[in-house]
Amino acid sequence: MRRILLQRVTKTFDGVTAVDGLDLDVAAGEVFGLLGPNGAGKTTTIRTILGIYGPDSGRIDYGNGGTGLSKDRIGYLPEERGLYPKMRVMDLLVFLGEIKSLSRSEAAGRAGEWLERMGLSEWSNRRVDQLSKGMQQKLQFIATVIHDPDLLILDEPFSGLDPINVAVLKEIMQTLTSEGKILIFSTHQMEDAEALCDRICLINRGRKVLEGTVTELKSLYTRNRLRIAFHGSDDFLKDTNLVRHVENHGNHVEVELQPAADPGDLLRQALTDAQVQRFEVSEPSLRDIFLMAVGGEDSGDNQDE
Ligand code: ATP
Repeated sequence: MRRILLQRVTKTFDGVTAVDGLDLDVAAGEVFGLLGPNGAGKTTTIRTILGIYGPDSGRIDYGNGGTGLSKDRIGYLPEERGLYPKMRVMDLLVFLGEIKSLSRSEAAGRAGEWLERMGLSEWSNRRVDQLSKGMQQKLQFIATVIHDPDLLILDEPFSGLDPINVAVLKEIMQTLTSEGKILIFSTHQMEDAEALCDRICLINRGRKVLEGTVTELKSLYTRNRLRIAFHGSDDFLKDTNLVRHVENHGNHVEVELQPAADPGDLLRQALTDAQVQRFEVSEPSLRDIFLMAVGGEDSGDNQDE
C-alpha cells in the first residue's frame, strides 16, 4: 500500500524548533488529521513533507523507492489562499491544469466536472475577484485536485466555508480517500476532525502528543470523565486523590478523574455522601481530549525557547 513515512523529522527556524523529532506514518485510503493548537508546527510539517523546507534532520519516505515527490502527483491547498484575481474561473483552472501536465482539453473537461460538483458552474466565465470568499475557497480546492493527485495535503481546508459547503467538502475528501489517495489535512477545529478523520495525530510544540483512531483515543480517555446528577452533599467531589476537575452544569456535574483513579471508588463515596440520581462514564469529545492532552502543556503559540 502507498504511504508516507516521516522519521524523526526536525525543523528549526532561528532557534525556534517548529517540528521536533516527529514520526508519522500515513497510508493511502485514510483521512489523516494533523491537529494542534496555533503554532504547534502543523504548517511547517506540511511544508516539510512538500519539500518546501528541507528537514534539519530525519527523513521522509514517500513510498516510491526514494525517488522523491513528483510535483504533478501532489495537490496542496495552502493556508494562505491566493488565486489570480483578474482571470476568469475556467481560464484559471485550465491554466493550472496545464501547469500540472494536463492537456488543454483534459483540463477543461475536468474543470467543468469539478465546477459542477462544487456548485460553481454558473460562475465559470466570471472573474475570480467577482466570487465570494467561500466560492474562491472552493475554486482553490478545485485547483488542488484538478490533476487527480495521489497525495492531497490540505491546510485548514474548511476555513471560510459555510456548513453546507463544509459538508460537501467532507464528502469529497472521503470519496477521494476511498479511491486510494493519501490525504493529510490540518485543522484546529476538533469537531471537523472528529467527524471526518480515520486517524489523527495531535502535535504541540512540534512534538507528537497523541496518535491513533478517534475510537482508540476516546477509549484511552473514557474512564477519565464522569457525568453525575445528585442531591445532597458534594463532599465526594472534594477528594483530590480521585477528582482532578469539576464543572458544574446546574442539574449535573462533569467530573474529570485523576489519571489513575477508579470511577468505582468515586461512586462508592458519592453513595455515602449524597443521593445519586445518575452516574455515568461519559465519552469525551475530541475537543475534550485535545484540551486534556495539550492543556497541561504550554502551547507553542508563546514558544520562547
Ligand atoms: P497555526 O495553527 O497557527 O497556523 P501551525 O501549527 O501551522 O500554527 P507553524 O506555522 O508550523 O504552526 O509554526 C510553528 C512554529 O514555527 C511557530 O513558533 C512559528 O512562529 C515558527 N515558524 C513557522 N514558520 C516560520 C518561519 N518561516 N520563520 C520563523 N519561524 C517560523
